[in-house]
This record gives sequence, C-alpha cells and structure tokens, in this order.
Amino acid sequence: MKLDSMPITLTQCGKTFRGTRVLEPLDLSIGAGETLVLLGPSGCGKTTTLRLIAGLETPDAGGQVRFGDDDVTALPIERRKVGMVFQNYALFPNLNVRGNIGYGLKIARVGAAAARERVDELLAMMRLQDHADKPIGQLSGGQRQRVALARALAPRPRVLLLDEPLTALDARLRDTLRGEMNALLRELGVTTVYVTHDQAEAMELGDRVVVMSAGRIEQIGTPREIYYRPASRAVAQFVGTLNRVAGQWRDGALVTTGGKLSVPAPVSTGSPELFFRPEDASLADPAHAALRGVIEQSTFLGERTRLTIGGAAPDALFVDVAGRIELARGTQVGIAIAPEALIALA
Ligand code: ATP
Repeated sequence: MKLDSMPITLTQCGKTFRGTRVLEPLDLSIGAGETLVLLGPSGCGKTTTLRLIAGLETPDAGGQVRFGDDDVTALPIERRKVGMVFQNYALFPNLNVRGNIGYGLKIARVGAAAARERVDELLAMMRLQDHADKPIGQLSGGQRQRVALARALAPRPRVLLLDEPLTALDARLRDTLRGEMNALLRELGVTTVYVTHDQAEAMELGDRVVVMSAGRIEQIGTPREIYYRPASRAVAQFVGTLNRVAGQWRDGALVTTGGKLSVPAPVSTGSPELFFRPEDASLADPAHAALRGVIEQSTFLGERTRLTIGGAAPDALFVDVAGRIELARGTQVGIAIAPEALIALA
C-alpha cells in the first residue's frame, strides 16, 4: 500500500493552557514522505505538538498549520484526513478487529464492497487475517497495536500521526515491532510524525529527529547529527551516554587529571571540557595512551562490557568494550579516543 504524501508546515505554533505556556511558538517543516520523530522527556510538549498537527488542539493566536498549500489551522481533526494512533490504542471494545479497521471507512461512507476490499488488504498487510472476527479483548498487545495502525491507515490519510505507539509493549516485542514499523513507514511513503521518549525508536525510525525540552526545540537533525553533534548539553544528556573530561586548555590540548586530549581544531567555546561517547573510546597501552586511569567497575552487558574508569578525568569515565574482556578492579589502563570523536559543547 502506497499513500500520497505532502509536506507539513508549522509556523509560530505555541500553546498555552489556562495561562501556562507549555509550548513556545515553534516553526517546523516536515518534508513530504518524511518520518519526523519528536523526542524528549515526559512533559516537554511532544504530544501537544502532535495534537496541534492532528487538529485536536488549536495553536495560540498567530500560529498556523499547513498541509501542503492548505491552511488547516481552523479545521477539526475529522476534516484534516489524518490517521492517528494513540499510546493506549483507543480501540472500540464493542467492535471486532474487522469492525475497528473499517470504522473510518464507514464514517467516510465508502461503499461496502470497496470497504471490505480495503479492510482485507490491511488485515493481510498487518498479518491479522486469522483474527478478523475476534473481539479486541482477545488480542495480544502487539496485535492491538497493529489493529490501531490498520484502523488509522484504512481511510488513506494524507498524514500519519503516532503517539508512543510501542510504549505499552514489553521490551522484546518493542524491538521487533520497531523494525516492522520502520519497514511499513518506508513502504507507505506517507508523511509521518512519531512521538516517543525512547531514543532507540527515534534513531531507527526518524529521517530527522526533533529533540524537545521544556516546551521548546533543542535541536533538529538526522539521527547521526543528533547523536554525534549534539547542539547542547540537554540534547547530549538525553541521547545516549556522554563522558565529560574537564581540565585546562594548554597549547591546543585539554590537560586533565590522567593525561591530555589533543583536539583537531581549536575549540572556540572556551569552556575547558570535552565530551565523548563510551563506544568511541578504546583501551590502550597506559604508557602511550592519551589518558590513564584505573578500573573501578566492570559491568558485563552481554554484547559488550561497560568499564568505569577513575582517575583519568575529574569525573569517572565509561568505556564500552566488545568481546570477552575481563578486567579486575584496580587494573591500570590507558584510554585512546579518536580526535574526531571528541565533542565540544557550548
Ligand atoms: P508525555 O510523554 O508525558 O506525554 P509530552 O512531552 O508529550 O509528555 P505534553 O503531553 O505535550 O508532553 O504536555 C506538555 C505540558 O502541557 C505538560 O506539562 C502537561 O501537563 C501540559 N498539558 C498538556 N495538555 C494539557 C491540558 N489540556 N491542560 C493543561 N495542561 C496540559
């Protein structure tokens, strides 16, 4: 199934509830067919942004929402042609699977034969053929999630809006469905806005990710840009784990407790600290390594081991190593970090 796609443009869209501004006026452009993920901690305004696009909320005065060239700011949800999936799915408990998927087609007065054909197509697409006549109460969490998605897609929406669609599922199922969701969104080609607080979902599904915090946009970028070039501490700390090396600038290097880090280009922020990801560092011969420290803790995580190393910098550092490495507490180690993996933050 392939859906039409169109760009979405938000201009100066803010939201105030009873005198409290929960969303600062924001500008956001979503490309036709793009999957844009809104990522951020609870309460940062992700759902409110999604509801503004859906037509479940109207922006404060001056805000505008456009689908392609259409100004939809004043249109209610039923006239925007959006498909929406909520975190709790909000399925109709009194209808069976077929009834739920076909609900929007009935509302849109699609003829019985055409509706049946569309529902059959979606049942097959979502691997729900064997469950078509079951009541919702007899389905697993993953099946309910697929019914909710099929119901949202049935009327051929021009925009797909997903609010934490995988959050209610257990971790293992979530991993599987994340991959399926990715394949599905690519196949549909529909413009999608996806709300989550899960960074793995954001990384896998987003063409671009919008990191939000306290009602504003902190950064918009591809998953790689967000991860490797975070624009602020808020982004860096929310996405992945980041080590901090504080010290003093001397001759183009950051001198710290356990050695020094040379940077490829002078760091303009002036703040005497650098950051790096645990997986961007490796163990090296202490005699020649940039930093030296002592193993404080070694945590076996299956596919990797996370080492906590003290003494190399004022803060303890995490270094992730793959393979069957076992290091006792107190072992002296060297840490090597590629210069391009060093992050300077304003
Ligand atoms: P979560 O992941 O917890 O859903 P979120 O990032 O989606 O968080 P929002 O649901 O957009 O955040 O909420 C942002 C802020 O706006 C919160 O402080 C919330 O309490 C407040 N808020 C949302 N809807 C309303 C409302 N109808 N009336 C008053 N306050 C609201």
